[in-house]
Amino acid sequence: MTASEIRNSFFDFFREKQHTIVPSASLMPQSPGLLFTNAGMNQFVPYFLGTEKPPYAPARAADTQKCIRAGGKHNDLEDVGYDTYHHTFFEMLGNWSFGDYFKKEAIEWSWELIVERWGVPAERLYATVYAPSEGDPSSFDQEAYDLWAELFKTKGLDPAKHIVNGNVKDNFWMMGETGPCGPCSELHVDLTPNGDSEGKLVNQDSDLCIEIWNLVFIQYNAEADGSFRELPAKHIDTGMGFERACSLIQNTRKFTDFSRKPTNYATDVFQPIFRKLEELSGKTYSDIYPEPGADRAAFSEEMKTAVAFRVIADHLRTLSFSIADGIMPGNNGRNYVLRRILRRAVRYGRQLGFSGEKPFFGNLVVALVEQLGEVFPELKARQDVVRKTLENEEASFNQTLDRGLKRFEDAVAPADPGTPAVSFGTTFPGSIAFELYDTFGFPLDLTELLCAERGLTVDTNEFEKLMEQQRERARAAQKSTVVRALDISTDAITEFLGFENDETEATVLEVHPQ
Ligand code: ATP
Ligand code: MG
Ligand code: MG
Ligand code: MG
Repeated sequence: MTASEIRNSFFDFFREKQHTIVPSASLMPQSPGLLFTNAGMNQFVPYFLGTEKPPYAPARAADTQKCIRAGGKHNDLEDVGYDTYHHTFFEMLGNWSFGDYFKKEAIEWSWELIVERWGVPAERLYATVYAPSEGDPSSFDQEAYDLWAELFKTKGLDPAKHIVNGNVKDNFWMMGETGPCGPCSELHVDLTPNGDSEGKLVNQDSDLCIEIWNLVFIQYNAEADGSFRELPAKHIDTGMGFERACSLIQNTRKFTDFSRKPTNYATDVFQPIFRKLEELSGKTYSDIYPEPGADRAAFSEEMKTAVAFRVIADHLRTLSFSIADGIMPGNNGRNYVLRRILRRAVRYGRQLGFSGEKPFFGNLVVALVEQLGEVFPELKARQDVVRKTLENEEASFNQTLDRGLKRFEDAVAPADPGTPAVSFGTTFPGSIAFELYDTFGFPLDLTELLCAERGLTVDTNEFEKLMEQQRERARAAQKSTVVRALDISTDAITEFLGFENDETEATVLEVHPQ
């Protein structure tokens, strides 16, 4: 199946189960406190809380939701490019019940789709159930355990082996600090060549056992004071990583050959972007991955190139879909998150031979639109502004990037490449990180990345201290403007600007340099 067929097969399945297929919500979150839409359930919060009635009969929906996890409670940015299955932007397939069906149907249908329809071998599946510690908000999920046990038994498999307990960290799902939440139960797939991990790799962040689908039993609302309020009704909220599903289905020869590790990047979700990048750069993508925690300073050129391909393709998706939803790169909050991600991508472009003379980022948009423009019409409709924005942002960062990189290299000046500079041991001075930020527009995480590649860590305490001093200066400047404006308050328009600044003080204080 192609990616598009897999998505449709998910929709068909839940249509048969009387779900209304709805469009993805915008990446601009509706809930306060979120940087970006980070899960399929975000758009349904009012239905869970009971403040609005779902317009579906029966009260069921399914969709593919555009998600970004690059900040806040769910942040996968650091893993991107290095592992096989985390992206900053991904599609989350989901099905929902709003006070309609509950655990039994959710669990049985997930099994029916994965095992019966898609043909994933049951012996490679592991289900997790919620097993709380003292003081956690809910009790052991016996109901979910019994339902899974029944299913595994039908295949002659031992439930005690195939059901794994998960604690509050992995099996109590929360969208953010507040909002609807509840215990959950997940399906994980054993990708070891012989399928003999016996559940030991579940929840261990191993790419040989991947979490594919999370079924959340929404029963509470996390309140601002840290308490959990029982909701008026019980709901189902599920999320399946679409790219992970594609990897599983496409990379295992119909689930017969697990000898090669399935990766999300070796699917037709990413391949068209890689082909375009290859065409533009003249370099070749190899689907190779470093061992977890490997020394980045010791990466081969081929490995560095592979990581760069993946990071760029991922970041292209995050940027393009955000801009298509009206979230622009900028100096504040979520806008600055986008600018940071873009600058990371541009810097990774150096690895592929791109530069100020040879920009690339905007040229990739066409490959993305070709692939996903039908599923997400907003991407197609706004492709020109997406492309223009990426081109402008790239050009603007290119003006300082090379000088900044030179400043970094001069600071590090290793005796021989790959070894940390002796002058400051393995700690990179926060003052230089601040200079890179302030003068050359290097977001802190970019400097941290450069440092990680040299075996260095940034002195973030010193960096934060300098940032705070800069904020103080901005605050002081802010006040004097206001005072002057107040002094001559009888005067007209120009001085009135002082008041406007004052009103936006909170925002202005967080402004980052261009
Ligand atoms: P993981 O433990 O792998 O980080 P998660 O538990 O954080 O995943 P959930 O919040 O349960 O993920 O989201 C539901 C599903 O979305 C997951 O089961 C997974 O298939 C998919 N998913 C989550 N994060 C990502 C990501 N960064 N990239 C791709 N798919 C993801
Ligand atoms: Mg996660
Ligand atoms: Mg997880
Ligand atoms: Mg999960």
